[in-house]
This record gives sequence, structure tokens and C-alpha cells, in this order.
Amino acid sequence: MGVSSDRLREDAARLLPGGVSSPIRASVRPCPFFVDRALGARIWTTDGAELVDWVMGYGPNLLGHANDRVRLAVVEQVERGWLYGAPTRTEVELAGKISTYYGPGKVRFVNSGGEAAMTAVRLARGATRRRLLVKFDGCYHGASDVLLSRRGDGALGIPSSAGVPEEFAGSTIVLRYNDVDELHRIMKKFGDQVAAVIVEPVGANMGVVPASSDFLSAAKEEAEGSGALLIFDEVVTGFRLGLRGAQGLYGIKPDLTVLGKIIGGGFPVGALVGRSELMDLLAPLGPVYNAGTFNGHPVSMAAGLATLRILEEGWPYFRAERAAKAVSEELSRMRLNGGEVAVNVIGSMFQVFMRKPPVVDADSARGSDSSAYMKFHEALMRKGVFSPPSQMETWFASSAHGDEEVSRTIEEIRKAWPS
Ligand code: PLP
Repeated sequence: MGVSSDRLREDAARLLPGGVSSPIRASVRPCPFFVDRALGARIWTTDGAELVDWVMGYGPNLLGHANDRVRLAVVEQVERGWLYGAPTRTEVELAGKISTYYGPGKVRFVNSGGEAAMTAVRLARGATRRRLLVKFDGCYHGASDVLLSRRGDGALGIPSSAGVPEEFAGSTIVLRYNDVDELHRIMKKFGDQVAAVIVEPVGANMGVVPASSDFLSAAKEEAEGSGALLIFDEVVTGFRLGLRGAQGLYGIKPDLTVLGKIIGGGFPVGALVGRSELMDLLAPLGPVYNAGTFNGHPVSMAAGLATLRILEEGWPYFRAERAAKAVSEELSRMRLNGGEVAVNVIGSMFQVFMRKPPVVDADSARGSDSSAYMKFHEALMRKGVFSPPSQMETWFASSAHGDEEVSRTIEEIRKAWPS
């Protein structure tokens, strides 16, 4: 407090590209706000506005902001120092929990979901001694060179960012999400060169788009049949769709799982998990390199462990999913140009698409009216409801979203809906 947000915005624009440290934050309308503090399901801005938060740090805050038990675990850790460059008991305990639900096997902690995905791909290439990677249009796996590619005209991808060498995208095949036929066809042709098939088992970066069971089974079958590894990117879904994430829900086990977000309790983290014989290919035991000054950071480990202990009690899922159900049902009742809109919901994540259903892949998600969505987002913001600032993002409920937050949100949705 004390500095007006106009002044902060000017300074931020001068000092940070786009006034932000990660691009999606610049999309908030009418303009990005600055946060003073947050508690539970609410954020207070430097201008004194109170917002009901459905963005939740883009996923990690399943227990809401500043959960007391997580806060105490963090404080307790900080009082004992916060970076040692040596292993800790908390790190081993957290790895134990992750291995229980996503193993059996071993865990490598890194600093972000993107780093974990990049390392998983390197590990798969090292393990199989193959070059090609299969990924899916609309899935996001972080901002590393190896994973920034999109669909091209041919089978091989093209860079989705300036600065990514064509060779990187040219080693990646980008297929349509939920398209079993295309997956079979391409794997028949290239399968023996494919190191890994990487997929978000529930897409959370094209709005919310759950995979069909058939699609994930086909990915498993094709990877197994061709000697490639199946990588599930559960950075968003891990510990959100239940303790065992999407793989528990679908009953499909990948070779490697990429985690992030919730396992750090809101502090920076990423992890990969897999069978011991695969994970032991990582340095120091094996030839696949990965390292990091902050890997297994004690504060992230403490926050993550405290978070998972609370999630094991079960009630946070019940509360978060009840809130998601109430708000998504309200959105399903809305009409656009007289017709119904697509609302995809799974567990505590949902998104409304400004188009008729169904939305099953990136193309159908892109076919929604994003300017109507942004109008809705801006109207909600003006009423004190922080909704995701893009049609391609996800509403995240938390266990801190109670009846009051839900009914206030529903009331404002009715007023803000574009007519
Ligand atoms: N994978 C998925 C599915 C994600 O949604 C994200 C980020 O939103 C990432 C990976 C990258 O994680 P991070 O932002 O921690 O690098």
C-alpha cells in the first residue's frame, strides 16, 4: 500500500517487459492489478479492492491462499535456514509421498513444471536413444526449447516461439488431441523413431479439455508397442484430480510423470517420477544430465509436504469440487446468441467456452468467441471476481471457496454475462 497502482503500472512498464514477469498476467482486463495480500479464496489489490480469486496462482493453491498449516511449515523451515546445498529429511519424505501415489519408483525435484517436462524428454531420449517426440496441439509443457513447437503442414512441428531452432521443433511431431486415428497412423509410420509421447491427460491450457479414455489408452498402447516412453504431464492435474491425479482417475499408468504446482504448496517446484531403472539414468548415477542449485529447495519441500498431508485428509477435494460444480453449473445455464455454451468441468477445474459444445481439442477451443470471453472476464473483474484472463486458461477452485464466495460469484456471473 502507499503507492498508487497507476504509478506501479508505469514503473512496471518501464522495468519489466510488458509490465509483468510472465505473459498471461498482462492479459488481465481492464488492466493488470497489483496484489497487496491474499487469504483463503480472496485477494486484496493495492487499490484496496477485494477479489474472489478463481485463478489461484494458476493452479497451485488448491488449499487457498496462505493456508495456516502450510504457512507454519514454511515458517518453521525458514527458522532453520532455507538453502543448504545438501539433502534434507523433508525432501525424502515428500519423495516418499509422491512415489506412493505416482510410483513405485524415484523422484527428481527441479524448480518448475517446465524444467521437469524438459528433463523428462531428455531422460526419454537418453533411455531410448531415439530422437523424435510426439506431443499434442493445445497441450503446454512449459517454456523450454524442446517443447515450444506447434502443428505444421507436415508431420513435423514448427517453432511456436521466435528463438527456438527449427531442428528442435523438427524433432517433434504435433498431433491433434483426442484423435485416436491420427495417433495410430503417425505411430505406425514413425513409431520406431519415437523416444516419447508426452500428453496432458486433461488439457488445462486450451481451457479445460479432458482426454477420452480411448485416446489415453491408445497413447499407452502405441508407446508400449513401439518402445517409446509415455509421459503424462500432470503439472496441473497431479494431486488436483485426487491424490493419484489424472492417472488414478483414468486407471492408466505412464512410464514417467511430470509434476509441479501443488507439490510445492505455492512455492517454486517441479518433479519427475518414474520406475527406478529409468530414473537411475539421471546424474549422478547415469549419463542423462540434470542439476540445480535450488533443486529440492527446503521451503518448497516443506510447503509441499504440508500441503500433501492436508490433501490426504480428503476434505479439501470435497470442498473444492463442490465449489467448482456450483459455479460451472451456473455457467452451463448461460446462453450465447440464444444457444447453449460449452462448459468443460472435471474435479475442481472448469472453463466456459463461448461457443456451442463440444470442445474436445485445441481447434474447437480456438473456435470459441474469445472477445466475448474477454468482455465477460473484464465485467467480472469490475465486480470483484478474478476469472482467468483467457479462454485458454482454467478456473481453479480451492478448498477455501465457501458458500459466500460461490454465491457472490454466481450473482456476478449473471450480471457480467455478455448479452
Ligand atoms: N505443464 C503444464 C500442463 C502446465 O500447465 C504448465 C504451466 O502452467 C507447465 C507444464 C509449466 O510449469 P511451470 O510454469 O512451473 O514451468
